Amino acid sequence: MTHYDYLIVGSGLYGATFAYKAKLASKKVLVIDKRSHLGGNIYCEELEGINVHKYGAHIFHTNNKKVWDFVNSIVEFNRYTNCPVANYKGELYNLPFNMNTFNRMWPEVHTPAQAQAKIDEQKVEAVAALGGREPQNLEEQALCLVGKDIFYKLIKEYTEKQWGRDCSELPSFIIKRLPVRFTYDNNYFNDLYQGIPIGGYNVLTERLFEKADVQTGVDFLEDKEKYLAMGETVIYTGAIDAFYDYALGKLEYRTVRFETEVLDTDNYQGVAVVNYTDRETPYTRVIEHKHFEFGTQKKTVISREYSTDWKEGMEPYYPVNDVRNQELYQKYAALAEKEEKVIFGGRLGEYKYYDMDKVIEAALNQWEKMQR
Ligand code: UDP
Repeated sequence: MTHYDYLIVGSGLYGATFAYKAKLASKKVLVIDKRSHLGGNIYCEELEGINVHKYGAHIFHTNNKKVWDFVNSIVEFNRYTNCPVANYKGELYNLPFNMNTFNRMWPEVHTPAQAQAKIDEQKVEAVAALGGREPQNLEEQALCLVGKDIFYKLIKEYTEKQWGRDCSELPSFIIKRLPVRFTYDNNYFNDLYQGIPIGGYNVLTERLFEKADVQTGVDFLEDKEKYLAMGETVIYTGAIDAFYDYALGKLEYRTVRFETEVLDTDNYQGVAVVNYTDRETPYTRVIEHKHFEFGTQKKTVISREYSTDWKEGMEPYYPVNDVRNQELYQKYAALAEKEEKVIFGGRLGEYKYYDMDKVIEAALNQWEKMQR
């Protein structure tokens, strides 16, 4: 049996970044993944000449120059800027919350001062209810940020569809991901750098793994002892509770199901992302994949995204950020600390709502730490 410096379990961005750095340093690296392809959830499948984000829309954005330089040293990025639109019962609003949104919500509002005054008026009750303390949950946080009209039309029902929980049971930081701006700027992210890899995410994945040994269709947990023995160090990016055979209980995840359809039109919705923020529409968003790459194909491909609780056999996507799950994770993390040769990384390994850039940053940092 070949022995490797690093056995990497999972070929998502964490594993890919780590593998790339280890190969640059002439280490012997084996990557195994239970799926039939590399790339984890950034994997794209080509349909009608369009890169379809098979596991959900991935838009690369970062404020971290080191991470941006790193990915650009691997692949060139296009100028895609995410400007999603929210559809509430047929009313269309620009996201994130900005002057365009405010003017559409309250037509009398034209200036930033008017918008600020309107929001102040809209949040009076929520602020009073806090009585000086910090917002404790997503509902309080959102009401204090943007007031009730925006909360009820653009946040509450969407969030409850996405997380399957009441907004009052979710942590406030989730909504802080979204900017609130008093300018007419529809860029969803505040980050300095943004784009989609030219040629799609698979190009990035292929180049990151170019020199490593890779095996797909291999399930680490089916023969854990054998695989653990194969690496001097094991980088495990699967679910941390599964690693310990759920010994302390099961962590919960949200998962996403996609209904993908080819349509005989060149442009279905005019934008890559439309969020359906009402409760009655069963899906959370519709992605029109070609717009990520300014595609000019004759047809188009859309995916309707449905959010559900994770059950065994499904792909886990999002860690659930409530108290029970965070406490349980902390117990698993304490076990992980004691591991001598296993490092846990990525969204599932660290049970963390990581964006792509943060995953890359964590993998780069882990690599550097191990070189000291
Ligand atoms: N959100 C919302 N309405 C929207 C878009 C987002 O209320 O139209 C909230 C929702 O709670 C969501 C959070 O903002 O979970 C973060 O959204 P983001 O787009 O960052 O989620 P992701 O892309 O990671 O699914």
